[in-house]
Amino acid sequence: MSEGGRKSGQFVVPGDRLGVIEEFMPGSGTYVVAGVIHSKVTGCTLLDKLNKKVSVYPLIHGVSVPKVGSIVEGQVSDVQSKSATLRISRIGKKLLSGNFTGILHISDVSPDYVEMMYDVSKPGDVMRAKVISTMNRAHHLSTSEKNLGVIYAFCSQCGHILTLRRGELGCPKCGKIEKRKIASDYGKG
Ligand SMILES: [Zn+2]
Repeated sequence: MSEGGRKSGQFVVPGDRLGVIEEFMPGSGTYVVAGVIHSKVTGCTLLDKLNKKVSVYPLIHGVSVPKVGSIVEGQVSDVQSKSATLRISRIGKKLLSGNFTGILHISDVSPDYVEMMYDVSKPGDVMRAKVISTMNRAHHLSTSEKNLGVIYAFCSQCGHILTLRRGELGCPKCGKIEKRKIASDYGKG
């Protein structure tokens, strides 16, 4: 449990943990999952210490934040053997001004078994993914559907954009063949 949620005036986004129902009553702008109170909106926490009630005052109206079910796009910033990190820059067609980070775990890449994230994406790739959870400020992503995955990839040898030919991703400049989990409309966007 983060201490940050126990003061008034904390900036929170949907999904942030605010406390547990043993400590507080959930007020407006909140929801409860398994006894944990989360923020429903982007805003500021209001802690009523007398009545032990936590609410969130919506701070920004009409600002897009990635929610569960949102289709997001962004650049892959880091790749580990079992996960990749995405810097989310848009939801659907809407460009975002805020900083949102998405995490794609290897088990959510594809309905099929995938062994290494290095065969899925590389840093610098542009990826489309679906938000499947927003717990603890992290946007957990999935690319298991056909229209999700890498939409632009760059050659790890020369940096040129990779093109799709006969189902294979290759570099038209240096000829390197690479592996990715690509979206069905790769390179057509
Ligand atoms: Zn190349």
